[in-house]
Amino acid sequence: MEDIKMVDLSGQYKKIKQEVDTAIAGVLDNTAFIKGPQLLAFEKNLANYLGVKHVVGCANGTDALQIAMMALDLQPGDEVITPACTYAATAEVVALLKLTPIFVEVDEQTFTINPKEIEKVITAKTKAIVPVHLYGQCADMEAILAIAAKHNLFVIEDTAQAIGADFTFSNGEKKKAGTMGQIGCTSFFPSKNLGCFGDGGAIFCNDDALTEKLKMIANHGQRIQYHFDLVGVNSRLDTLQAAILDVKLKYLDEYAAARNRVADFYDSAFSDLNEVTTPFRAPFSTHVFHQYTLKLNKGNRDELREFLKKKGIPSMVYYPNPIHLEKAYNPNGTWKKGDFPYTEWHSLNSISLPIHTEFDEKVFSYIAENVKEYFKTL
Ligand SMILES: *Cc1c(COP(=O)(O)O)cnc(C)c1O
Repeated sequence: MEDIKMVDLSGQYKKIKQEVDTAIAGVLDNTAFIKGPQLLAFEKNLANYLGVKHVVGCANGTDALQIAMMALDLQPGDEVITPACTYAATAEVVALLKLTPIFVEVDEQTFTINPKEIEKVITAKTKAIVPVHLYGQCADMEAILAIAAKHNLFVIEDTAQAIGADFTFSNGEKKKAGTMGQIGCTSFFPSKNLGCFGDGGAIFCNDDALTEKLKMIANHGQRIQYHFDLVGVNSRLDTLQAAILDVKLKYLDEYAAARNRVADFYDSAFSDLNEVTTPFRAPFSTHVFHQYTLKLNKGNRDELREFLKKKGIPSMVYYPNPIHLEKAYNPNGTWKKGDFPYTEWHSLNSISLPIHTEFDEKVFSYIAENVKEYFKTL
């Protein structure tokens, strides 16, 4: 079997090489490497795609979250609610700004923040909720927005893993991931569903005044050059990356469909395998399958990974160390092992299999057959 990767960036690039290379050459020709026309075009095209008023490019998804929290004037000591099952970046910016991260258990099926648990931790200091649209599907935004409205809290969506996913409200209205709260934050890290050729990120916002502030903060706090009204950061999306992203944006829905094809293939391959539970598809969200994550009902996850590795099949664990138990985010021992049983169970018993836009039945059959093979060894 050929070299199997978690994400086949090379196969994807080859299909659009000519278009991407032309876009890159266009940037090299006019040398507007910072804030060039391709960046403005991409921001506009992405805003149109998402149905959001403004998109502001920045250097990465982590910066997007930080700039969002700074623009909302969150102050040291303010509490920010976020799921225990997420990438460290979500909690990292909270801690970096001397805000207090308050972790909440996730839903057992979607592994996104459990709205029922949110109200239990709201205090007078709570200022914001940061739901994470994990693995490619939206958290239960209708419930989250209702809680936020009731308690006058900001909602900052971390949609680094779910760009393009649609949330359907109970009245039938649909909105894209990242466009429902005050601010949405995404990452264009190469392996994300809309990935650039390096680091990149963006912030989504429907409010004109808040967007102005987001732009200022991303640009050293300047509105007019050399007038520093706010303390900001230096965080830009390069024109080159934007030009590449603008090409890939045209294929984003196709990419989501291709990922769904892989997910459907795995689902049917595992339909008679009682030892695993295939990913749950929430009724309120489409799934763009950033990850395909299986829950093990039997066997040993790390043994399965080792078994697959010997067959040349990579796998990943998102995330092996729950954030609430990590030293950096739990310095005073506020959270103990056992506080979030689903998050902790998930960190030990789930596995993410290769999934990407380049479907090859031979490769994915081989992966599925070997997963089944492992359970025969038990
Ligand atoms: C990737 C990711 C980020 C961070 O994005 P970077 O561009 O790597 O800074 C934040 N949150 C989640 C959930 C992510 O998956």
